[in-house]
Amino acid sequence: MLSYRHAFHAGNFADVLKHAVYVTVLRYVTIKAKPLYVLDTHAGAGVYDLGSPEAAKTREHRAGIERVLAAPGSWPDLLAPYLELVRAFNPPGRLAVYPGSPALARAILRPQDRLELVELHPTDHAALAARFARAERARVVRADGLAHLVARMPPPERRGVVLLDPSYEIKTDYEAVARAIAKAHRRFATGTYLLWYPVIERTRVEALLAALRATGIRAQYRIELCLLPDSPGRGMTGSGLVAINPPWMLPAMVEAGLPWLKQRLSAEGPCEAGWLVPE
Ligand code: SAM
Repeated sequence: MLSYRHAFHAGNFADVLKHAVYVTVLRYVTIKAKPLYVLDTHAGAGVYDLGSPEAAKTREHRAGIERVLAAPGSWPDLLAPYLELVRAFNPPGRLAVYPGSPALARAILRPQDRLELVELHPTDHAALAARFARAERARVVRADGLAHLVARMPPPERRGVVLLDPSYEIKTDYEAVARAIAKAHRRFATGTYLLWYPVIERTRVEALLAALRATGIRAQYRIELCLLPDSPGRGMTGSGLVAINPPWMLPAMVEAGLPWLKQRLSAEGPCEAGWLVPE
C-alpha cells in the first residue's frame, strides 16, 4: 500500500538540493548533440500546486524553495539554472507552482532526447500521464521503478541519466535500491545515476552507503545537507544524493554552492560533499 504523496513535500529543502543537482547534470550532458535517454524511476505527479490542501497542510516549501528564491544578490552556479527554471514555471514575482523532476527534465531535454517517467501510485500516475499526454519523446509508465530500471538498461542511445528518488516507505527500499543500481550498472556502466536518500536514521544511511561501496562501482560522489543534527525520532532531518559517474564539473560546482545553500537554509546539521568511491 503506497501512502507517500510528494504533494505534501514539494519544494522542500530536500527537493532544492536534489533538483539543483539534477538540473546541473542534465544541462551538462545536453551540451553534446548526441541523443540522451533520461529515466526517472520514481517520478511523482510532475508539477505541484503550492496552494493545494496538501501543500497548505505542511507548507514545507516555505523553508525550502521560497527561502532560496528570495535570497538577495546572485545565486551560485549550482543553483542559478534550477532557480531560473522554477521562476519560469511561475507568474512574475510569485511562487504558485513547483516543478517536480519530470517537469524540470522536460524543460531541459531536446527533440533528440527521450524521457521515461515511472510512477506506481495510481493518483500520481494519472496526474503525470495527463500532464505528459501530448509530450513528444516522453513516456509515462506505471510500474515498479527499480524493476523498470534494470529492464531498460542499457538504453539504445548509450548515453543516459537515471534519477532514483524512492519514497523509502518500506524499510527494504534501502537495500533494494543498492541492488538495483548494481544490476543496472553491470548492464550500463557508463550511465550517470543520481540516487536520493533521506536522513531519518543515520544507521540506515550508513548501511545504504556501505551497500553502494560494496557494489565495487567506481566514481561515486556523495552530497549531503542536513537541517538538524542527527536526531532519531524527529523525522527527516536532512537528505543526500549519491551521483555515480557525475559529470566532471559537478564536484567543483557542489563544493562552491553547498555552503551558500547551507547558510540560506539555516542548516545546522551535517553538510558535506566528497567521493564515496573515487574515480
Ligand atoms: N522524483 C519526484 C520529484 O523529484 O519531483 C518525486 C518523487 S517522490 C519522492 C517518490 C515517488 O515514488 C512517489 O510519487 C511514490 O508514489 C513513488 N513510488 C513509490 N514506490 C514506487 C515504486 N516501487 N515504483 C515507482 N514509483 C514508486
